[in-house]
Amino acid sequence: MNADDFELGAEFAAARDETDPLAHLADRFYDPDDEWYVDGNSLGLLSEEAEDALDRAVSEWKDLAIRGWTDADPPWFHYGERLGDRLAPLVGAEPEEVVVANSTTVNIHTLIGTFYDRAEGSKIVVDELDFPTDHYAIRAQLRQRGVDPDEALTVVESRDGRTIETEDVIGALDDDTAIAFLPSVLYRSGQLLDIEAITEAAHDRGVLAGFDLAHSVGVVPHDLSAVGVDFAVWCSYKYLNAGPGAIAGLYVNENHFDARPALAGWWGHDKETQFEMNPTYTPADDAGAYQIGTIPILSAAPLAGSLQIFEETSIEAVREKSLRLTDYLIFLVDERLPDCEVGTPREPDRRGGHVAVEHPEAYRVSEALKERGVVVDFRPPNVVRVCPAPLYTSYEDVWEVVEQLRQVVDNREYEQFEPRGGGVT
Ligand SMILES: *Cc1c(COP(=O)(O)O)cnc(C)c1O
Repeated sequence: MNADDFELGAEFAAARDETDPLAHLADRFYDPDDEWYVDGNSLGLLSEEAEDALDRAVSEWKDLAIRGWTDADPPWFHYGERLGDRLAPLVGAEPEEVVVANSTTVNIHTLIGTFYDRAEGSKIVVDELDFPTDHYAIRAQLRQRGVDPDEALTVVESRDGRTIETEDVIGALDDDTAIAFLPSVLYRSGQLLDIEAITEAAHDRGVLAGFDLAHSVGVVPHDLSAVGVDFAVWCSYKYLNAGPGAIAGLYVNENHFDARPALAGWWGHDKETQFEMNPTYTPADDAGAYQIGTIPILSAAPLAGSLQIFEETSIEAVREKSLRLTDYLIFLVDERLPDCEVGTPREPDRRGGHVAVEHPEAYRVSEALKERGVVVDFRPPNVVRVCPAPLYTSYEDVWEVVEQLRQVVDNREYEQFEPRGGGVT
């Protein structure tokens, strides 16, 4: 779709909503009243399905107590593996290659530790626009191995402060590189990296390739097994709509099922013999080995519900709508907001699910928007992230959000707000 297909005006947006094959799904989500919620890449909305699944887990706890581990539906004992099976199609993996466990940051610790021990080289390649927790965890893992992170971490620089060039990542790989660990989608600009090209180049040089899919899972289809990605992590509270701090997910390619998890725990033990309580640890022979402690059922249950919505459609259909919405949003920013710039790549295959709208006063602009009931988030120094989540955002919502943004910027309404302090944005 190109910009010529779009028109200005709320009527055009309403007509698009009429023919949107996913429009009916929005009714399943609780959208706070009188609000335009375009922050689903930070915290997805609650769906009726997720709420029901959480209610069911609470009832099972009430009615079954300890028997829930074996008699709940599905039994809590295998809950992490069963959710992994259901997530596998979203990331293009075999069911045994995926499990839900821990948080994303913990999964980075265990997978970086594991694959660093397994790899040949001594360096890890990352990029300077990464989400900070990824670097914190990698540096800590290097330090624990007596390695100086300042020497072992190769940080690929951005040429424009927004994006990372594939050729620069590939150029940073050398004979001494152990792992390339990169995001699928950059959290600020929304650039989608070329996972296949990076993985191929890494493998050509004997380097392992891992990805953080936090900003793409549930909105961009992946093909991890076919591409041969070695490992990946993601969280479930963004596009997967599983709730604040919901259990995270991970993928380990079956070629690595013989690896020993860096962070061992009884929940990753071979399930057949876990309750024999042996003092020696026998990891499961699949991705399940990367679980650590007892699965937090109450933060996993909403994911079981929210996945039902994905199972009614396909990740390809979700991606298709996402691209149309972001194309439309970019068109409107170009047409209606001369003081703002689009910081997200315009090519569909280089774009995730959100759009970075840049303005020198982005922080105060985002505050003014919130006051008007438009929920966005600000990322320093100059980005307002706008995420039209394809499961519940309509074309009319996008039109209306840009209209609100136009009023805030054109009337300099943001000047009424204090410059930036601290706090969660
Ligand atoms: C959201 C996000 C995380 C969050 O990690 P938590 O452990 O869930 O706090 C990590 N990495 C990236 C790239 C993210 O976007």
